[in-house]
Amino acid sequence: MFRTTIAGSLPKPAWLAETNKLWPQWKAEGADLADAKRDATLLWLKEQEDAGIDIVTDGEMSRQHFVHGFLEFVEGIDFANKVKMGIRNNRYDAMVPQVVGPLKLKGRVHEVEAKLLRAHTKKLVKITMPGPMTIIDTIQDSYYGDRVKMAMAFADLLNQEARALQADGVDIVQFDEPAFNVYMAEAADWGVKALERCIEGLTCKTAVHICYGYGIEANLKWKETLGDSWRQYEQVFPALAASNITQVSLECANSHVPMELIGLLKGKEVMVGVIDVASEVVETPEQVAAVIREALKYVPADKLLPCTNCGMAPMPRAVAAAKLRALAAGARLACEAA
Ligand code: ZN
Repeated sequence: MFRTTIAGSLPKPAWLAETNKLWPQWKAEGADLADAKRDATLLWLKEQEDAGIDIVTDGEMSRQHFVHGFLEFVEGIDFANKVKMGIRNNRYDAMVPQVVGPLKLKGRVHEVEAKLLRAHTKKLVKITMPGPMTIIDTIQDSYYGDRVKMAMAFADLLNQEARALQADGVDIVQFDEPAFNVYMAEAADWGVKALERCIEGLTCKTAVHICYGYGIEANLKWKETLGDSWRQYEQVFPALAASNITQVSLECANSHVPMELIGLLKGKEVMVGVIDVASEVVETPEQVAAVIREALKYVPADKLLPCTNCGMAPMPRAVAAAKLRALAAGARLACEAA
């Protein structure tokens, strides 16, 4: 039986935050907001369990954005004076905070979500965090003056939180590195080293998610420029195969990624993206099973984890819930046929 999971994020309910936005405003504050985040986390936990997802997440209900949700807990960052920056190699502009001093965690980042999940499910629990290369591509450096040095400083903080998450009972800590698909040479050179610094000393499973982004317009336009065969993974996978990371997440559904690139990840568990997050059309179990069967040519069944291509944060709630069910149903179908 395949173990299913998701890349991480799910849509926030309309009573928690603005919908269909990457940087949504919260609908409550103070203790009410804390309650609302907790309620939304439990709701999506139940939806994942009922759909038949095996490795569940908090759906990232407690963070406004997948990068800035971490940065809010870091000292040495000025959020009051954001600057406009072209991110992901100028694919789109974002208003980003600035690093203005030595970086240090203010305290725990995801303790509440981790403990909440652990207390309410017997399933394997995963918490996601942004990877160091993606973080430094989403923040202005006004202090370190050296990209790699700043990335390593963030890696130390991520490692500190990852160790604490493991102590909370989290089974898998995942790092999201969409920047690996944009700066491939740098990713292979120091990005993977920074990632290994994040997982130093961990005994739980670890994962890296590398994707072509959410289904937002800027990403869809970028994908149109990538041609018929997307081989970005080819430059980074050999370095990842040689690393200590346990699992690698890649996008395969409706994608121009040649499936044979999975063969470069020998020995790794592979999270195969079988759900397209750039389309609101819900996959049939047969479509999901077909992608799984294709991937099985390159990765053994016990190392294949059917997954979503990326996070589902900007999608309508009902569509995301239906896609969870399609994912699990497709995995069951592929198993019966195998
Ligand atoms: Zn992604």
